Amino acid sequence: MPALLNELSLHNHIKIGIIGGGQIGKMIAQEAKRMSLKVIILDPSKDCPASTICDKLLIADFKDEDKIRELAHFSDVITYEIELANSRALKNLQLENYPIYPSPHSLYLIQNKFRQKKFLKENNLPVPEFKKIYSSADLLVVAKVFGYPFMLKACEDSYDGRGNYLIKRKEDISIAYNSFQNREIFAEKYVDFKKEISIMVARNKSGQIETFPIAENIHKNNVLDTTIVPANISLKIKETAEIIAKNVVTCLNDIGIFGIEMFVSNNDEIFINEIAPRPHNSGHYSIEGCSISQFEQHIRSILNFPLCKPELLRPTVMKNILGPANFLGNYKVIGLSNLLSIPSTKIHLYGKSTTSPGRKLGHITCTAPTLDEVIKRSSDAKNSIEIIVD
Ligand code: ATP
Ligand code: MG
Repeated sequence: MPALLNELSLHNHIKIGIIGGGQIGKMIAQEAKRMSLKVIILDPSKDCPASTICDKLLIADFKDEDKIRELAHFSDVITYEIELANSRALKNLQLENYPIYPSPHSLYLIQNKFRQKKFLKENNLPVPEFKKIYSSADLLVVAKVFGYPFMLKACEDSYDGRGNYLIKRKEDISIAYNSFQNREIFAEKYVDFKKEISIMVARNKSGQIETFPIAENIHKNNVLDTTIVPANISLKIKETAEIIAKNVVTCLNDIGIFGIEMFVSNNDEIFINEIAPRPHNSGHYSIEGCSISQFEQHIRSILNFPLCKPELLRPTVMKNILGPANFLGNYKVIGLSNLLSIPSTKIHLYGKSTTSPGRKLGHITCTAPTLDEVIKRSSDAKNSIEIIVD
């Protein structure tokens, strides 16, 4: 039987079980270790990024029910860094009173983008119009309602835009439809956005909710490239986005940290794109940029400690370091001395042993007294390094 969290103090060596030992699991673990918490990771790879820092590593597939049970047995609380976690296995454990945050039900809702959008719409939260698609004929009908272009999206198992198709004209329909083979899909109205923003929001068991400063995100090839904070948005958009984010966690009635991706349309409407039930790439900036990181806030929320109201210490830019398009395999990062001579610039390398095109290998965070200066520092930093074959 799991121990009750409220019987624990930090000195009881609270054990946090994390499904997934990628960079997010590693950064949760780094914050946990600072507070002398124990961390147990479940990941299929023995040299996953979190492997060097966790107290115990269970090597198994993310969906392996027996290993998830073993993880639960060793842990006081379970969390996850990936949406691929097995929501059904976690639900069974939750029924046996194992504390799992965010809840397996939220994970189940979010794992399927159509189910997620339906939930948001039913709770009067703003999402682009969407419709389930069962045939290519359905797409012709949708095209008349949504107009071109519009998105066709896989409901499950997509990331970095890999499950998305932008249908620009009638001629694209059959290629787009066939590209999904037998996957469950839905169509979504295209939002002609002027900005993509995101907001991290945490809630603890006592119902305290705190949001992080809003991030402005720039994607390249569907992958997050740059996060700039503060976002260049009006006070009205900021306040509305914060209310929406708080409403999301209130409607989910859940515990933990959530990343809410949003579009700001050309006529200043806000739409939720999607929710991540975990720390999010666009929240990495908080490690250097805020009075508390998204990872510590997550730990506080799942252990029901008081949350901190995150303050932006000064303008901050985060840039991802991605595997180059042209090679797979062993790599090294060159140009570090140049990068490290730029003031208030930090590099995070996740320790992945091999690269592949677009793989997230690390990130750079810069802070500065002004937005102009931090933007300059971050592009100098990014330009100073290169990933090359080792
Ligand atoms: P990630 O892993 O980065 O979250 P994903 O595979 O879940 O990506 P989405 O978040 O659905 O994919 O979309 C990726 C990007 O595609 C968005 O950040 C946005 O730039 C664009 N996009 C998605 N949906 C729409 C839309 N309805 N209108 C306009 N652009 C969109
Ligand atoms: Mg997304």
